[in-house]
Amino acid sequence: MNERPSSLHGKIAQLREKFIAQMPGRAEEALHHFAALRADPNDSVAAANLHRFLHSIKGTGNSFGFRELGAIAASGEHLAARLLENPASVSAEFWDELSEVLSNVYLSAETLRKRGASPSHEPDIPSFEMPQADDSEDAGGRLIYLCDDDPLQVEQLAAQLRCFGYMTEIFTDPAELRTAMLAKRPSAVIMDINFPDGVSGTDALTDIMSAMSQPVPAIFLSARADFEARLNAVRAGGGAYFHKPVNALDLVTTLDELTVQKKPEPYRVLVVDDEPAIASYHSLILQEANMITYQVHKPERVLEVLQEFRPDMVLMDMYMPSCNGRELAKMVRQVPDYFSLPIVFLSSETDKLKQFSAMRVGAEGFLTKPIQPEDLVTAVAIRAERMRALRTLMARDSLTGLFNHSTTTQMLANAIANAGRQQESLCFAMIDVDRFKAVNDTYGHPVGDQVLLALARVLQQRLRNSDVVGRYGGEEFAVILREDTLDQATRIIDQLREDFSKVRFHAGEVEFSCTFSAGVADYPKFTRMELLREAADRALYIAKKEGRNRVVANND
Ligand code: GH3
Ligand code: MG
Ligand code: MG
Repeated sequence: MNERPSSLHGKIAQLREKFIAQMPGRAEEALHHFAALRADPNDSVAAANLHRFLHSIKGTGNSFGFRELGAIAASGEHLAARLLENPASVSAEFWDELSEVLSNVYLSAETLRKRGASPSHEPDIPSFEMPQADDSEDAGGRLIYLCDDDPLQVEQLAAQLRCFGYMTEIFTDPAELRTAMLAKRPSAVIMDINFPDGVSGTDALTDIMSAMSQPVPAIFLSARADFEARLNAVRAGGGAYFHKPVNALDLVTTLDELTVQKKPEPYRVLVVDDEPAIASYHSLILQEANMITYQVHKPERVLEVLQEFRPDMVLMDMYMPSCNGRELAKMVRQVPDYFSLPIVFLSSETDKLKQFSAMRVGAEGFLTKPIQPEDLVTAVAIRAERMRALRTLMARDSLTGLFNHSTTTQMLANAIANAGRQQESLCFAMIDVDRFKAVNDTYGHPVGDQVLLALARVLQQRLRNSDVVGRYGGEEFAVILREDTLDQATRIIDQLREDFSKVRFHAGEVEFSCTFSAGVADYPKFTRMELLREAADRALYIAKKEGRNRVVANND
């Protein structure tokens, strides 16, 4: 009885048993309410309690597959609703009916208890599989194979990819590529189409892929841009097609899309229900779909929990003691931070008018219990996803996808607070593109944008996940490096400076490169955010004054 089952079915079976085991005590409570109402049919508190009890047994019973119990409770709920609405109208038969319902609730639960709480109707529990991240990424970066018969061209391209944090291996012959692919799987392959002696790159790659257990993302390069060449590339499983000469930044953007499989952050769902058994049941289903849940059984705790848990959405019950779901949703909406937080009601309330009235407080939807597990997961995932997208829009810069100024500032404040608590250090770097105005003036604003995008990619690719990269202003970027000494941080930023200076940009026929200057300062030497920022800024100013294309640490 006390063992902890690991499977979802086992856990749900335990919840069911617990629910049934608690029934006699709860039914007794309901009898007290009944007795109070017989003595005084106008006792609205007792009527509300009895109504909530029956409503809750209906919802939970149906969700757990106890259909008979759910049906009995539903008939009782109607009776209790009459008492709530018009206590003067009830007759002697009404009391007989209600008392019969209550004893039937008790008897049905007893039967279930003796049967071992097995449901008359087993709800389907779906199983889910989340895509696993590619292991090859963890081993110090992503490996790209390039195959092209022109050694000079392919080496240049590989050098560009390395600036963006990719590891590269070069082959000039498809047969060599084949051996390498079968020995070690790369994250992606970049393949020329025309090889000497009429050897076709698309045919060669099709042949290699057929010998592999799983296809590798492929990009084709060609001097040809005709329909047939493109069609052959698509048929050979090419994820992209580039016409030579290739713009390195475009290629990197595509490689990122084809190879980066960041593990999706699980959605966070707050489950509010006064009935712990049903809150646990819905939580289990959502957890099975890889979501993180937190349960609240008392409405008065919701505001406090929201602040700590930061959910992507709230799943809310309608009938709860102390306040109902409609009031609670309204309260949440009145806090500016949660103005756009999706709230979805999940209730056994089937009265459409009551549903609409609940929705009018700005809820995102109304789901009825019992709900099919798949439907619950889908309904929740859609709303949580939308919330995520909205948050991304608000937190990120639209050109580079990096954190915007206000988010970066907020993250710096958080990182400092955290480092202070953990007694750790952190470094802050300000980066500014050198003579960027001249780039815009010479090649035009769109080319300037390409430079900013490339710098954003270089920074993002090379820094660890725990580091924060933000676009601080026009051509200014900020980096927060956690747990690095000033020395280490300066070296890391200097390596980035070197990588970036090697990136070749194209403006029509002209090729050019760009550099940046940076200033680095560390916490806790500079004890407050303002001081840290100013210290990094002063170092950046010195870097500019000393001739640009350099990184200066603030050693004051
Ligand atoms: P320094 O080496 O001293 O930093 O010189 P600079 O030319 O880089 O600095 P300055 O502050 O004079 O010029 C910055 C330029 O950046 C001016 C502005 O038009 C340009 N800029 C700001 N935001 C953007 C953007 O989003 N896209 C493009 N293309 N240019 C931008
Ligand atoms: Mg409830
Ligand atoms: Mg500048």
